[in-house]
Amino acid sequence: MAVMIFAVEERIDHSTDRQAKSRLKMKVPLLDLHSQYGTLREELRAAALRVMDSQQFILGPDVAALEDEIAVYTRARHAVSCASGSDALLLALMALDVKAGDEVVTTPYSFFATAAAIARVGARPVFVDIDPLFYNIVPDKIEAAITERTRAIMPVHLYGQCAEMSAIMEIGERHGIPVIEDAAQAIGAEDEERQAGTIGTIGCFSFYPSKNLGGAGDGGMMTAGDDELARRLRMLRVHGSETKYHHQLIGINSRLDSLQAAVLRVKLPHLERWSEARRENAERYHQLFEDAGLLEEISLPAVRPQVRHIFNQYVIRAGARRDALIAHLKQNDIGTDVYYPVPLHLQECFSYLGYGEGDFPEAERAARETIALPIYPELTEEQQSYVVESICGFMR
Ligand SMILES: *Cc1c(COP(=O)(O)O)cnc(C)c1O
Repeated sequence: MAVMIFAVEERIDHSTDRQAKSRLKMKVPLLDLHSQYGTLREELRAAALRVMDSQQFILGPDVAALEDEIAVYTRARHAVSCASGSDALLLALMALDVKAGDEVVTTPYSFFATAAAIARVGARPVFVDIDPLFYNIVPDKIEAAITERTRAIMPVHLYGQCAEMSAIMEIGERHGIPVIEDAAQAIGAEDEERQAGTIGTIGCFSFYPSKNLGGAGDGGMMTAGDDELARRLRMLRVHGSETKYHHQLIGINSRLDSLQAAVLRVKLPHLERWSEARRENAERYHQLFEDAGLLEEISLPAVRPQVRHIFNQYVIRAGARRDALIAHLKQNDIGTDVYYPVPLHLQECFSYLGYGEGDFPEAERAARETIALPIYPELTEEQQSYVVESICGFMR
């Protein structure tokens, strides 16, 4: 059991958190995979055993079926699986023939893989700052960063909310530049009723266990509307080959395991319900923070009109007291994390790009001030109240 309840007397004798003292002390992990596993345990084990009995581990019928099911779910024309979300980004760039000397405009505030994929193909990540409310790349700044060397725009739908895709697509189309969506955190999110990952030229998804649809290990998927591009993606993930031992392209080995596909096929039918539960939890947090009178001290996630946010993360802004708040919540057995503490332009490995402190003030401020709270679907009302009360205790 990941949720443990302790008697107050045992656990918070010296707590300054008066409201929490009146309640039972709880443990609230940032993410609890055990409770979800508990509800699907038999089905998941049967699926894994079925693959073991088939002894067909690479690609195979479960992988093909998962691709079809993801294509239906995302309403994409093509879905091509691969070994991880990171590889999906890399393969997308390779399929579009982005290479040394090229530039790709992207956000400095994302998981490392976004910019790493660009650097991996030899191209230059060109960062532009984010919006302070939504934490996504600002379309006007993309426009200003485009040069004759720009070969792609790579927006990230951070935390499960789409970047401003209409404006981004308009810029891409006007300049004839493809758009690769990093939808790793955003499966099932929508922007003006279009599914994340299906708006741009190629959409990239991750099945890392902490994502809304998480496997039992690594996994990824790419979506595309163009037949030829989908064919290239399919070839590139198997060393650039369509016919065994005949290589038309220099690809990589990035196949999805049958075991992962089988696990993901068990979970996919529940994805909508899980994402709805995350959305409901986000609404409940909003109500609880409002009731606690905390809307001045902290900024809650802002949701753009016309989008469906699927809350892979619930990120609040706690200002200059962020690190102290994290320590306080840790003392109260509440799991948090920072996505992300170091913006990409300040990563050591990217020092050759020549960026410095102050180049992207909003990304840097977000890295200093934000904190992710538990939002997973199985989170209970009591746990959420406890999180909010603990934050209240800290702020007062
Ligand atoms: C998780 C993630 C990735 C990478 O996915 P992996 O499957 O872990 O390789 C890329 N971009 C973003 C924004 C992510 O959150």
